[in-house]
Amino acid sequence: MNAFNWKRIVVKVGSALISPNKKGCSSHYLLAIAQFIVKCREQNVEVVLVSSGSVAAGAHLFNEEKPSVTTKKAMAAAGQTEMMATWDKLFDFPAAQVLLTHADLRLRDRYVSIRNTIFELLNHGLLPIINENDAVTTAKLKVGDNDNLSAMVAAADADALIICSDIDGLYDKNPHEHDDAKLISWVTDIDQSIHDMAGEASSAVGTGGMKTKIQAAEKAVSHGINTFIINGFTELSFNMLLMGKNPGTHFQPFEKPMQEHVHWLTHTSNAQGELVVDNEFDSAFGESSEALTTESIVSVEGDFSVGDTVLVRKTDGTKLAKAKSNYSSCLLSFLADQEENTSATEFESTTGPIISENSIAILEKK
Ligand code: GLU
Repeated sequence: MNAFNWKRIVVKVGSALISPNKKGCSSHYLLAIAQFIVKCREQNVEVVLVSSGSVAAGAHLFNEEKPSVTTKKAMAAAGQTEMMATWDKLFDFPAAQVLLTHADLRLRDRYVSIRNTIFELLNHGLLPIINENDAVTTAKLKVGDNDNLSAMVAAADADALIICSDIDGLYDKNPHEHDDAKLISWVTDIDQSIHDMAGEASSAVGTGGMKTKIQAAEKAVSHGINTFIINGFTELSFNMLLMGKNPGTHFQPFEKPMQEHVHWLTHTSNAQGELVVDNEFDSAFGESSEALTTESIVSVEGDFSVGDTVLVRKTDGTKLAKAKSNYSSCLLSFLADQEENTSATEFESTTGPIISENSIAILEKK
């Protein structure tokens, strides 16, 4: 009955489904989702659940109308246990909590470690339930919304990402304001027109809206992952998926997905610094990392170590690529300063290219 022939899926559930009236957790809408997860597992489809809702679930314990960021973090810490307990009651197999921040995902060794943990949980038949660790995040360390987080998690070899929303999918205009708004059921290319349709819409309880769902879809399809935005409030959506039908908006995955590490560089890793090159610099990264030499570097920004991700950009701001640096910012600044001096080039010819040959992600020219 696994009509889509998937082996692993990620299901993302938002706060409005967990805590519809913001008075703790309710299993009202979760039952259908849990049933779907059970049926997928019966068909040998591995499921990873990304569940928001800790802040919404914990809110009733704090008597604050306009909670500060600190109070929200405390709400998250309190609500997370309640949320896990609610999910746990719906399954007769064990669930495992994984809380993470962007700081964990953007560093390659931590990212790989998280992937391995998820794989191990799945291998042992557990259901990983993932959320952002809101209690420890700061503006700099957070992903900020679980839509994007779910796409980063789906990059762990998922075949599909199913984002449960409070409406049927992506509409060509805001369906709350326009009676003639049409549901877009199939998206082959996430271009500017698709981003425009999503607008800035945000939900009352979570941090995401349609905008972050489209960002998530963009990340996932580039990794070859079928992405759906569906109405998580109706059982019909899940029954349709089980029958191999599309209940909402289906985003077509790239035929030639990015390689895993290039995808991670592009969408998950944060640049720790920048290599600024001359506007005339003709990038040939696609063919060779050796195209970038200290002679082409105008300045080195930020503080990074060997192995960190750097952004290569032109002085006019054009972003060329994200890449793994083979040098520290200190050494690169020193070498770039010696631009007129042949010793820098001699140094490179003996120590190898500035950026790693196999870790270059070419960026759109923006
Ligand atoms: N991590 C937040 C929570 O559990 C939700 C983030 C989101 O709404 O996307 O409340």
